Amino acid sequence: MDCLFCKIVAGDIPSTKVYEDEYVYAFKDIDPQAPFHAIVIPKEHIVSADMINEQNSHLVAKVFEAIAKISKQENLENGYRVVNNCGKDGGQTVGHIHFHLLARRNLQWPPG
Ligand code: 5GP
Ligand code: ZN
Repeated sequence: MDCLFCKIVAGDIPSTKVYEDEYVYAFKDIDPQAPFHAIVIPKEHIVSADMINEQNSHLVAKVFEAIAKISKQENLENGYRVVNNCGKDGGQTVGHIHFHLLARRNLQWPPG
């Protein structure tokens, strides 16, 4: 499948791994927006948050289980932000659902 993040999961495109388990892969963003910026994805291809359903929602739960583990692994005790961009107006540029994990700076709200 011609999907950038599926190729990263397969190891066909190199990435800096942050975390991996049976369901989830997390890697450093190539263009970090915070001192710590990881992309957390289900290994299974889901296009976007708009495609979450009863059959695949357990994979989103696995993503958030992984995020809580990464938080401990990376000592993100000051907190972090999880961002999902969905679709064109949401700013999604890669068509494989992903969650940005941003930390180590004081993130502003609202994001704009
Ligand atoms: P989006 O804009 O779709 O929410 O997020 C896509 C993210 O993937 C961006 O933050 C972008 O920097 C990151 N990205 C795009 N291509 C690559 C790549 O080849 N490797 C890595 N590590 N990150 C990428
Ligand atoms: Zn994919």
